[in-house]
Amino acid sequence: ILRVQGLNKSFGENHVLKDASLALTRGELKVLIGPSGGGKSTLLQCMNFLITPDTGRFWLDGEEVHATDRKSLYAYRQKVGMIFQDFNLFDHLTAMENVRIALVKVRHMSKREATDRAMAELERVGLAGRAGLYPAQLSGGQKQRVSIARALAMDPEVLLLDEPTSALDPELIGEVLAVIRDLAQGGMTMVMATHQITFSSQLADEFIFMQQGAIIEQGSPRELLGRGATTRTQEFCSKIN
Ligand code: ATP
Ligand code: MG
Repeated sequence: ILRVQGLNKSFGENHVLKDASLALTRGELKVLIGPSGGGKSTLLQCMNFLITPDTGRFWLDGEEVHATDRKSLYAYRQKVGMIFQDFNLFDHLTAMENVRIALVKVRHMSKREATDRAMAELERVGLAGRAGLYPAQLSGGQKQRVSIARALAMDPEVLLLDEPTSALDPELIGEVLAVIRDLAQGGMTMVMATHQITFSSQLADEFIFMQQGAIIEQGSPRELLGRGATTRTQEFCSKIN
């Protein structure tokens, strides 16, 4: 469904992403792990063109995406949703309005249609009863669920999640992971950077271990973390768990 090939990105002298490639099959969950500064966020942001990579080619549904072609890029962005560590909600809008705004502004839905759709997505993440509250009135876990509802409202083909639970208090992590589990089991195609190894190893089709901007290892949780594995992934996970 989505393939990126030969992504490179430098910030000045700092070569942050070194020839990263990956291919996603529909319904698959790939999990990015690795030490801080390894390039996980940069990879995800390049995959959504929030950062323009220096080199790299993209294909979505078999068609190549050209970063220089605004129309192609615009269409791509609508199909590839992003969830951030710090939620990125609009503070002056309610939960419902946060989910609705792009439906009205980008999808040109009527306000009523957009409201219905926003409510349905809030319901899906268990927040229908909180629709009228502002971000400041919500817990971190609720805010992240609103941001997931907002991404889902756009009907993405792929969701990119950058450490969606790492800004949350421990007791709130579970509710967000439960939503992500539902999405994975419902067949959403996702790439997620996370330190939640135990959770991910139950759901991920593949782990991707990144270090110093390069993909070092890639394989099923079983291959990389199974009994007796002596992989870099195993070594890394044993340190953080
Ligand atoms: P973490 O686990 O801490 O989130 P990460 O794997 O997501 O780390 P990145 O955030 O992608 O790592 O960072 C990779 C490298 O790129 C780091 O050395 C970082 O300092 C550098 N970097 C990231 N964004 C920028 C930027 N906008 N300008 C300059 N350097 C950047
Ligand atoms: Mg990061």
